[in-house]
Amino acid sequence: MIPSVRVRFAPAPTGLLHIGNGRTALFNYLFARKEKGTFILRIEDTDAERSTDASIEAILQDLGWLGIFWEEGPDGGGQNGPYRQSQRLSLYRDDAEKLLGKGKVYKCFCSPERLESLRKDQLSRGMMPKYDGRCRSLSEGEISKMESEGLRPVLRFRVDKGMVVFEDLIHGRMNFDSDGIGDFIIVRSDGMAAYNFACVIDDHSMHISHVIRGDDHLSNTPRQILVYRALGWQPPVFAHHPLILGPDRSPLSKRHGATAVSQYREEGFLPEALLNYLVLLGWASPSGEEILSMEEIVEAFSLSGLSRNAPIHSRKKLEWINSQYIRKTDKDRLTQYLLPYLEKGGIAVNQLDEKYLTQICGLLKENLFILSQVEEYLGIFFDEKFFLEEEAKAVLAVPQNREALQTVLIVLEVLTEMEGDSGPSLLAQLEEKTGRKGKPLYGLLRAGITGKMKGPELVKILPLLGKERMVKRLKMALELS
Ligand code: GLU
Repeated sequence: MIPSVRVRFAPAPTGLLHIGNGRTALFNYLFARKEKGTFILRIEDTDAERSTDASIEAILQDLGWLGIFWEEGPDGGGQNGPYRQSQRLSLYRDDAEKLLGKGKVYKCFCSPERLESLRKDQLSRGMMPKYDGRCRSLSEGEISKMESEGLRPVLRFRVDKGMVVFEDLIHGRMNFDSDGIGDFIIVRSDGMAAYNFACVIDDHSMHISHVIRGDDHLSNTPRQILVYRALGWQPPVFAHHPLILGPDRSPLSKRHGATAVSQYREEGFLPEALLNYLVLLGWASPSGEEILSMEEIVEAFSLSGLSRNAPIHSRKKLEWINSQYIRKTDKDRLTQYLLPYLEKGGIAVNQLDEKYLTQICGLLKENLFILSQVEEYLGIFFDEKFFLEEEAKAVLAVPQNREALQTVLIVLEVLTEMEGDSGPSLLAQLEEKTGRKGKPLYGLLRAGITGKMKGPELVKILPLLGKERMVKRLKMALELS
């Protein structure tokens, strides 16, 4: 028995997985989980020139990293395969033959040059470009003559007059006058099925119940419905969600910054955070809660809750969500996440004291919006990365500040080794000896001991650095400035 809900994500493997596509995959995945249905991954690689195996690999990897898993797909599993369109060509051929036999499609021999000049002419006359039907009623004789001359036709779908109406789960009732559609190609002259055809054959034979995709495909849907009708099949339910826009309200693209899922991974976004952010683009939890686990999202998710308005990408919001996830991550796991960034920052992590490393990572939790920012803080914890930022230099240039730091140095030099919780008592002692309290003292200490004016709480940094490091730093700072 086929479960009632079967959805699919059907990327074309022509590049990296865009966050917009990741979001489409997510909506399908959530809907399948919510409805206890099946989520299918289908690779739409009929464009042989632009499709690559490397892109398929990358898409599979990025989906897996995001935590989106499929029950049926190209890497095994599923009764309805193969799940790569390039391996389904005979299926398309059979159905194309059927339609040809019924007269629903016809052979068209128009050359690309003729089609291009037709298009230009229509545009120049303010008309919507569409095929003019020249080959619609060729005789058998004309067809065999052209074929014997070696001309290879495309197959065009015969679009008759009428309306195509369907209920979209997000946009409501959609009406298309077929007059605006024009006879479209279902099989190209090289024998390859076109998207609008292959998609219908696959969705039907894979028993897809709901097609959830971006609304850039809205204009394809009436064409696909016509193909369903011609084959005597019931179309699935459609839900077209608006695409993500950049802050200038144009479709999100590279000029707005990172667009690929893998770029966000490399920068140090956590998969749960990126997923959480993507679902909030166009959907809100009924409780208004913004930080939600996958289980909570599945529980609250509904297709009818998706907005008709296009969401606007906000890097700031994504970073904020990521920071919330970083704060929730326990320090051992966070350390694992941060290792590659520490290495990239030039820290020989395998020569480090594990405890020191974990403590640093735990401390930085509150400061990081993305993992790669850890590099900004290396100077605080690692002597070889210590340097004075301009602001710190300015603090150290003031004679009274230098004097106060000399006093600090004296206190530190006679200090016995520090315990983890001895920050407050050290600060109290330094307040007393320098005669400075609160912020003015903390600013000084930050400048002299960490080289930066910002960072995790000083009261925690100092005991972690320990006496020797602090003394060494302070001496270096006083010499360097
Ligand atoms: N291959 C199409 C795309 O990547 C899929 C469209 C669909 O979901 O039908 O946009």
